[in-house]
Amino acid sequence: MDRLWAPWRMKYILSTVQQDMNDECIFCRMLAETDDEKNLILCRDQLAFVVMNLYPYNSGHLLIVPTRHTGDFASLTNEEHVALAKLMRISQNVITQVMSAHGFNLGMNLGRVSGAGILNHLHYHVVPRWNGDCNFMPVVADTKVISEDLHAGWRKLRDGFLEAMQS
Ligand SMILES: [Zn+2]
Repeated sequence: MDRLWAPWRMKYILSTVQQDMNDECIFCRMLAETDDEKNLILCRDQLAFVVMNLYPYNSGHLLIVPTRHTGDFASLTNEEHVALAKLMRISQNVITQVMSAHGFNLGMNLGRVSGAGILNHLHYHVVPRWNGDCNFMPVVADTKVISEDLHAGWRKLRDGFLEAMQS
């Protein structure tokens, strides 16, 4: 695949350097705030929440995050695993309905060597895929250009999440 100009990736790389320096957790900060549209939070459950990735590999790239601040996968409780799995299932359903995704990459990067950008607060990636979107995983390829405005995407997905959480 050709390497495309992806300025948001540089912003992201710089932000991870900054994260090491001042140790502020972006997930804990957005959880403490109340403006979910600004922070692109799609839904909050008691033990986990869903937020759109600010530096997506594909349209509709979501992060499923435990509410508790931890970077240690082994420390997750059974209840937290269930909460994360529930939100992954809902994310898959909503994206399939709203964006007609053909498939998904689901996964978690643990440790800097794996490509994790935010090391100290675990998060699953939910990356929708469409036939022909590219020939191999953009999760590692790092070169996808996103055309859809993130906030327009948030508005499109938000209702689906509200509905799913009520049922
Ligand atoms: Zn945190």
